[in-house]
Amino acid sequence: MNTQKASEVWAEFDNITKIGRPSKKEGKIRENLINWAKSHGLESETDEAGNVIIRKGAAEGQEGRQSLALQAHMDMVCEKDEGVNHDWENDPIKTKIEGEWLTAEGTTLGADDGIGIAMALAILKSGDIKNGALECLFTVDEETGLYGATNIRENWLKSKTLINLDSEEEGEFCIGCAGGRDTIGELKFETEAAGASMYFCQVTVSGLVGGHSGECINMNRGNSIKILGEYLDRLGKECDMRIAHIKGGNLRNAIPRYAEAIVAIPFAEKETAIRTANIFGSELQKAYANTDDKAVDVRVESHSGCDKVMKKDVGERLVKALVDCPHGVLEMSSEIEGLVDTSTNLAAISIKDDTVIIETSQRSPGEDRKEMASKAVGRVFEAMGAKTTYGKDYPGWEPNFSSDIVKKCCESYKKLYGKAPIVKVIHAGLECGVFLRKYHDLDMISFGPTLEGVHSPSERVNIPSVERTYDLLVDIVENA
Ligand SMILES: [Zn+2]
Repeated sequence: MNTQKASEVWAEFDNITKIGRPSKKEGKIRENLINWAKSHGLESETDEAGNVIIRKGAAEGQEGRQSLALQAHMDMVCEKDEGVNHDWENDPIKTKIEGEWLTAEGTTLGADDGIGIAMALAILKSGDIKNGALECLFTVDEETGLYGATNIRENWLKSKTLINLDSEEEGEFCIGCAGGRDTIGELKFETEAAGASMYFCQVTVSGLVGGHSGECINMNRGNSIKILGEYLDRLGKECDMRIAHIKGGNLRNAIPRYAEAIVAIPFAEKETAIRTANIFGSELQKAYANTDDKAVDVRVESHSGCDKVMKKDVGERLVKALVDCPHGVLEMSSEIEGLVDTSTNLAAISIKDDTVIIETSQRSPGEDRKEMASKAVGRVFEAMGAKTTYGKDYPGWEPNFSSDIVKKCCESYKKLYGKAPIVKVIHAGLECGVFLRKYHDLDMISFGPTLEGVHSPSERVNIPSVERTYDLLVDIVENA
């Protein structure tokens, strides 16, 4: 391991931790990169989206080689522990070493993706690497929706090969990822006055584990909104039920863990509501015993009441849609064992004025499968009488198993570490998929050192893995 070379990576990373760089507020880090280029005698360019490219010519004797792009994102997720004061735009991150890990005190570290920037800068800075022409691309606003990559200038990047430095497991090469689309149903409804003899109760579904809708969708964990829909369906078959309020879930990329509804039923049916919840609850305990820590709970409690309830037919259509709406894995990969190909997440339900809003998101590396999944959900919304709209939509990256850069990276890895790397496709978004929209034949790979706890204050980066990953990157830059 050449730790002397890696010391440049740490020096650059240390500088980066001193610069505020929340998503959409990358002005400071951008200015810093431009000045950095200037002071190292390198040319830089900024596009309309705020992305930066720093270019370096080929080393002596390497002029005939193809240009290579190294890419990382400038922004970071800003999460801190309760009670920690931190001004994200101005305060430096307080880093500390714990064993072989580097972490931050009370905040995210921003090694996602600051360490990617640092590795690219160390390569640019070095005088003794035999590189072909290099383009280091630093994008803005990755974390809130891949916006820098989406809005990148056309015909800007000259390289036909790109290495994305935003993966989090040393020894694993990512060669494909899922695209995503949000599909939203909006159901306008009419209300009527609640009958004087009605009993109001609040139904809550809680105790589920949830998780990221890309990484955890194949774990068969309970979805609080589906569970609530199923309960309301059973209750509605037992007695005359009206919905006054309903909500559940939060983020579109999270499997919902909590949901609640306020419903009105005839006073005499109070026990029915409780009994149905108890029976259903014990079924759920069994069904989710291995996936949700045996804590799933369906609870019915008295509620002080509401003036208005949804008209009966609206409530029935809504409940039917929640029962019918697909959730989970739709298709597994036929090429990689155990990999989810296409999935959908029933993510959130809420009421705004006189409209119920149901939010879902679909993922697939293939545009065709992503669209089919979105359409399947949209059909359920339309059957309910809702309007279907689409939110964020980004393309996937279908793996190319005969990619040149993947072959070369595998060769470098084997040469340095004497074993084959793991080559994988992930069921989550990466900027690589988005680049393909404007750079159709870009040959890409994504890798990085080992990071843990990203997007949380427990984020940490494994120090020796940074040093090994940098050695690998240098070898690839010299030989790819
Ligand atoms: Zn990242």
